[in-house]
Amino acid sequence: MTASADSSAISGANTAQQSVTLLGSTGSIGNSTLDVLARHPDRYRVYALSAHTRINELFEQCKTYRPEVAVVGSEQSANQLHALCVQAGLKISVEFGPDALDAVASATDTDIVVAAIVGSAGLMSTLAAANTGKRVLLANKEALVMSGDLLLQAAKNSGALIMPVDSEHNAIFQSLPSTKNGVKTDGIEKILLTASGGPLRKCTLEELRVVSVQQALKHPNWSMGPKISIDSATLMNKGLEVIEACQLFAVGPDDIQVVVHPESIIHSMVSYADGSVIAQMGRPDMRTPIAHALSWPQRITSGVAPLNFMEISGLHFEEPDTQRFPLLRLAFEAQRSGGTAPAILNAANEVAVDAFLSGDVAFLQLSDVVEQTLNASKISPASDLSTIIGADKDARHKAREVVGAFAGR
Ligand code: NDP
Ligand code: MG
Repeated sequence: MTASADSSAISGANTAQQSVTLLGSTGSIGNSTLDVLARHPDRYRVYALSAHTRINELFEQCKTYRPEVAVVGSEQSANQLHALCVQAGLKISVEFGPDALDAVASATDTDIVVAAIVGSAGLMSTLAAANTGKRVLLANKEALVMSGDLLLQAAKNSGALIMPVDSEHNAIFQSLPSTKNGVKTDGIEKILLTASGGPLRKCTLEELRVVSVQQALKHPNWSMGPKISIDSATLMNKGLEVIEACQLFAVGPDDIQVVVHPESIIHSMVSYADGSVIAQMGRPDMRTPIAHALSWPQRITSGVAPLNFMEISGLHFEEPDTQRFPLLRLAFEAQRSGGTAPAILNAANEVAVDAFLSGDVAFLQLSDVVEQTLNASKISPASDLSTIIGADKDARHKAREVVGAFAGR
């Protein structure tokens, strides 16, 4: 097996102040990123912020970080934010909609784009950043799952650098050998992708049948947005991360082993032919991978305290259970099928998670929605964007039908 953290697009340390577009600034990753940026005003300035619905939160961020541009979801929200900015004497250009997101992601005035919009809504702006040679801090794993080949090819063509923010992928990046000019390095046996197991790790099938939204949202170690929190409870998050790792590190699903590690201290590992295992460890705080992805190959402070090993009572490991959490198996299968299968899996899952959050399907039906959608869908080569977007749309339609049947509509 071969894998490498491709450093080909890096031209060396850059200590000049860089400007940052933060897409999804009102979210969990968005707030963690702002916390890190605020610690380094000499290195980073904010060029653009984006939110979808949380306009008051975005306004507060605008007052503190003074971006040149703020992007929101609708014209109405833009008018609201514009009025608030005028009242406060802030000179910020307020835009709205997907084209405005693409524009701030590809603007010549920005060096770094943090892709932290949740779900497929983040795809086009992430692609725009990859097409225009930015350093892309990729949190939005759904974009990579849907169209990994296109995204990575776009980055290759433009010289963009994709830096993984997802803690596991950032850990793998740190644990792989750094190679020159993208030359792959042999001697890697396996990528060990760790998983906390989520809040329902110990539940029996019977208990899972009646799990409430509140129980599923309650992650033991991480504080995250609702979609990824539900994905963590079903282990779909780990399934999406398997696909994400295959894309980022050019490996196959059989090169990846998921290891449940409830303490979330080891964020992932790489196992080598000589018996060495290299792991990245740290507190479960997204500011660490964000700071790493911002400053690599340098290191900057993140506000996260180092681990105190004297406080850690033990590190535990177990096999994931795909009987109780079948979405992990379905994700492995989708990656093996290739083509548009991961995009279909992702779209069906987004519909299923929305339906679970609004009470239309039960916890165990989440995997049924995804499996039935995959079974009813034709898988095509994911060779161009319109095929992928078509597969996404079609899968959403099918998934909504399955949800409708479960909800008795
Ligand atoms: P949140 O739900 O906390 O935040 C999502 C952000 O996206 C918000 O700023 C939201 O705006 C914005 N947004 C939502 N829908 C749209 C849309 N249709 N168009 C434009 N913007 C939109 O999510 P997280 O921060 O938890 O996650 C963001 C991404 O990072 C996800 O892909 C997730 O998988 C990934 N990730 C998250 C981790 C975490 O610890 N949270 C860890 C690893 C990866 P608003 O709130 O104003 O409506
Ligand atoms: Mg993760």
